[in-house]
Amino acid sequence: MHVIVIGAGVVGSTTALALAERGLDLTLIERHVEPAAETSHANGGGITPGHAEPWNSPGIVRRLLTRSGEGEPFRIRPGALPGLTGWGLRFLYHSRASRYYPNARANTRLAVYSGHCLKALRERYELNYHQYTDGSLELYFSQAELDHALDLRRRIGDPGVEIRLLGVDDTVALEPALEPIAPRLIGAMQLPLHESGDACEFSAEMVRCARSLGARVLFDTQVLTINTENDRINGVLTDKDTISADAVVLSAGCNSPILARPLGLRLPIYPVKGYSATLELDQVERAPTMPLLDLEQRIVTARYGRRLRMAGLADFEGHDRSIRPERIARLLDSAATLLPRLADEIHSGKAVPWAGLRPMTPKGPPMLGPTRIPGLYLNTGHGSMGWTQAAGSAEVLADLVTGNVPGIDMRGLGAVKDERVKV
Ligand SMILES: Cc1cc2nc3c(=O)[nH]c(=O)nc-3n(C[C@H](O)[C@H](O)[C@H](O)COP(=O)(O)OP(=O)(O)OC[C@H]3O[C@@H](n4cnc5c(N)ncnc54)[C@H](O)[C@@H]3O)c2cc1C
Repeated sequence: MHVIVIGAGVVGSTTALALAERGLDLTLIERHVEPAAETSHANGGGITPGHAEPWNSPGIVRRLLTRSGEGEPFRIRPGALPGLTGWGLRFLYHSRASRYYPNARANTRLAVYSGHCLKALRERYELNYHQYTDGSLELYFSQAELDHALDLRRRIGDPGVEIRLLGVDDTVALEPALEPIAPRLIGAMQLPLHESGDACEFSAEMVRCARSLGARVLFDTQVLTINTENDRINGVLTDKDTISADAVVLSAGCNSPILARPLGLRLPIYPVKGYSATLELDQVERAPTMPLLDLEQRIVTARYGRRLRMAGLADFEGHDRSIRPERIARLLDSAATLLPRLADEIHSGKAVPWAGLRPMTPKGPPMLGPTRIPGLYLNTGHGSMGWTQAAGSAEVLADLVTGNVPGIDMRGLGAVKDERVKV
């Protein structure tokens, strides 16, 4: 059986390895000359199953209204509103408690499973992607915010995520870089299951491992159409060649809807822009070792050796990938507020700015599994959780392609119902 995977982001490259491991004849096709050149390139780096709930929790309308704007975590460009309306209404529809909590549970279940799959991958292969596997800290600056987070977790239930509540002294003892902001902190959640790592380096490792198992990898090759014959998949047309296949897995991030549309599938995936800045540190000893999530400023940080990655922001402005200086300034200001000892370095102009588009579904969980077109599978739409869910999604997809039962309860995680949603 010959299977084509479209897209060598973190999702597609991990899927390619999972399929190659099952002995399938595998071709991975990527339009760039290297893996992870788009959204997986410089993301926040966090593997965070304890924070996998979708963004549209009840109360999202108030949060969007009070925290949208140039200096805020969210930004909605008025010109993008027409293209956002259908998706946006569904996003709000899924914020009702009766829909939100099942979606949050499904997303968290997949993320926790993914954590186990990632660990298993590290046991099978020697992987180097600047991984950090000793947990993360979620920082709280007001009791109301902490109470809200605890209530949210209680409602989602116990999907297997251990949480330790820390007071300020214990938080600073664990992460001394936070000492200057101790007077503002009220505490933190330590999530021992959490990890971090460079998703771009990881994707390259996945490609290397898949190749070692015989997979073909075609870079600099753009898929133009997914082909069918007698209503079932029979391959793809690229800008170089026609390649036949028995099955195609679509993992093209925000481009997935464009490739699916000629087949009559409307994938409700909206590109939600986020930013990061990566700083080669001079004063490494002043930087945090643990991955941090600052819920007040809504930014994350992660360390890769001497590099510090700062990421966040959610801009709704369609497929525009431009890096807006004022948004990068907002990100850097937030990071300097969180890490005052590094403020000079953060503002030195050395940080490398980046923007990427999160492939976001309106309900939260990705689109994972077979479609109504025989031979076409989706593994896409992971939104803000693609790095966290990549290893688990790849295992699930490979099990489904080979006719095995996935190692996870699939309730709320399929693709077929979603694909019919009109946007
Ligand atoms: C600022 C920011 C911070 C984030 N932080 C985190 C985090 O801390 N933790 C986390 O879990 N997630 C995080 N995410 C989300 C995560 O990065 C994404 O969910 C993930 O990268 C999506 O991966 P993907 O493989 O689906 O898409 P992509 O990485 O975009 O890969 C899709 C690939 O398909 C290729 N492609 C598209 N069309 C074609 C075609 N026609 N032919 C050939 N190739 C094609 C593209 O070139 C691309 O390489 C963050 C995202 C952003 C923007």
